[in-house]
Amino acid sequence: MAHLSQEEKRRYSRQIIIPGIGEEGQQKLKDASVLVIGAGGLGSPAALYLAAAGVGTIGIVDSDDVEISNLQRQVLHTTADIGRPKIVSAERTIKNLNPNVNIVTYGERLTADNASRIIRDYDLVVDAVDNFQARYIVNDTCVLLRKSLVEAGVMRFGGMVMTIVPFRGPCYRCIFPDPPAPGSYLAPGEAGIIGAVPGMIGSIEALEAIKLLIGTGEPLVGRLLLFDGLDMRFTEVSAGRNPECPVCGKTARASTGA
Ligand SMILES: [Zn+2]
Repeated sequence: MAHLSQEEKRRYSRQIIIPGIGEEGQQKLKDASVLVIGAGGLGSPAALYLAAAGVGTIGIVDSDDVEISNLQRQVLHTTADIGRPKIVSAERTIKNLNPNVNIVTYGERLTADNASRIIRDYDLVVDAVDNFQARYIVNDTCVLLRKSLVEAGVMRFGGMVMTIVPFRGPCYRCIFPDPPAPGSYLAPGEAGIIGAVPGMIGSIEALEAIKLLIGTGEPLVGRLLLFDGLDMRFTEVSAGRNPECPVCGKTARASTGA
């Protein structure tokens, strides 16, 4: 692990002076690796703020190409990127912001088959996917590999975010044991979204990740943070671990050796 250069000390000076961070905390960020799953509405601000803060390695998973309808919220990509892979514009935008960051891109859809291989190498995961199937795969894999996970979802004017530290607080499945039945919810393209909403929630994801990596503050473990942008209100719902949880409950723990 390389020490902070003079350029880095200047670049991050506004956060290094914060009590609880310091050069020690900045070094932790530099030595850390975060996987951002999805380079869309949530992944854009999350990856940008993680990169700006000096996280040393950022992995980005996305198999889609940029479409014009993405640009209203996915600020990693520009009009000139339409038709090109999102991981290409994501890497370029992040490198332009902070060339110190090592970017690793995965131009593939996260599946039950590749999730362990991709997630294994990272310290922490930021979930920025737009579908329930991937959300459950990410949760289950992170619990299995004991990786901390910041989980979020957005729709229309609202969103939610929670932080999962496996076996310390509830996982996504402790709270929502099963994916909703297909057809019982609106797909993102049907529901709609205001870009500033994933802008806020993705920024909260980045902040949660930064806190966990530095080891400061109180993460959203066992607390579901709900945001209603129409009324401009944050509310919080407490949630505990479910002993019957199929991935982190009693029987699951026996099989994973925790
Ligand atoms: Zn669980």
